[in-house]
Amino acid sequence: MKFHIQTWGCQMNDHDGEKLSGLLSVEGFEPVDSVEQAELVLLNTCSIREKAVHKVYSELGRLREVKQRRPLLVGVTGCPAQQEQAALFKRAPHIDFVLGTMALKQLPRLVAEAQAGMTRVMDTGEYPDNHLFPSSVTRRRDTAKALVTITEGCNHACTYCIVPTTRGAERHRPCEEVLAEVRSLATGGYREVELLGQNVNSYAGGCTFAELLERVSEVEGLEWIRFTTSHPMNFTRELARVLVTNPKVAPFLHLPLQSGSDRVLKRMSREYTVAEYLERLEYLGEGRAKLTLSTDFIVGFPGETDEDFEATMRVLDEVAFDGSFSFIYSPRPGTPSLRLKDDLPVGVKSERLTRLQQSQGRLTQASNDRFVGRQIPVRIETHGPTEHGWWLARSGEWKTIHLVAGPDRSLPFGELVQARITMASPHFLGAELV
Ligand code: SF4
Repeated sequence: MKFHIQTWGCQMNDHDGEKLSGLLSVEGFEPVDSVEQAELVLLNTCSIREKAVHKVYSELGRLREVKQRRPLLVGVTGCPAQQEQAALFKRAPHIDFVLGTMALKQLPRLVAEAQAGMTRVMDTGEYPDNHLFPSSVTRRRDTAKALVTITEGCNHACTYCIVPTTRGAERHRPCEEVLAEVRSLATGGYREVELLGQNVNSYAGGCTFAELLERVSEVEGLEWIRFTTSHPMNFTRELARVLVTNPKVAPFLHLPLQSGSDRVLKRMSREYTVAEYLERLEYLGEGRAKLTLSTDFIVGFPGETDEDFEATMRVLDEVAFDGSFSFIYSPRPGTPSLRLKDDLPVGVKSERLTRLQQSQGRLTQASNDRFVGRQIPVRIETHGPTEHGWWLARSGEWKTIHLVAGPDRSLPFGELVQARITMASPHFLGAELV
């Protein structure tokens, strides 16, 4: 049977998609690139914003039409599946099975039951070994950088977030198991790993997260280690020290702030004040200058006043983030913030978002300008030059690089090369091969 998995959302979901693809492959199923070729389609969905959920339902509508023309099995997994459970069958009766986020390994069984003609097959139970996933089964898409889950679930309770409900409390993979996976990845040719967790720096699988980073960095053959996503309250001095001193830990930190107003942070239950967030950045000391720093902002959270938003703009300028991801607050079913009065006009929210993104654009340009003239290591991310003649690459600081290598040069995919930065735009750095 040929299968196709469509994934939305964060790296954790991406990696779940790789695990699910591996589970089906070891059962003899064949992966294909499109719905048209597939006999089984699995939607690996995300509920972080309303827009993402709309996309899933629109895709389900398209699959219903395909199913009217020919046999097709349709499955749904991801946070909306965990949250909606059997209600999904009511909304889209052509779904054959629903797989919960904490029951991934049950996929082959669910598919077999659906193949056998059972209808409305579902498993949204919580399996305690869900986070103990054999790497050998994972079918990784990126052959240069490997995603590695180290922790699943979240013990925080941000009022706008459904993750603690859909992914459960934190479960940590044992440190030795993570190291064994990273060693086998390095032996298999991977030079970069990204350690993943909904709250990655709360890791407690037999050592601290900082210790885990140090131990992973000792794995022979590995060149860069990245991690995502961090919570400010779990960002320790020890982690800051490793980040600025360990040459294998990529010089990049994504630390979500969400708002520059203490009042809004409290309504979000983020568990820190702006001063505490800034204190965490001070842990980095002088090493901070070597890193790039990015963050997340939610604009227009219920009750956000002009004053609150201006506070966010002040922190944005004060920290001078190198980049940020910003979105208008999206009320999600089942989250505590749904009970908060959300009466800010859409126009005001959009205006605030535009202002914030324009300011960020200027800061990112300034951040990129600082690279011009420097020589830095970058990893090649394409198998050949683009139609414009340059290669796509990525720096440790998470900058997108357009690299000119000359017509006669062939650059090996996934390798680190030295690049001299020649120009900066808000979205990428132009560079030439050294
Ligand atoms: S830290 Fe907050 S936003 Fe992040 S996963 Fe946990 S509850 Fe959600």
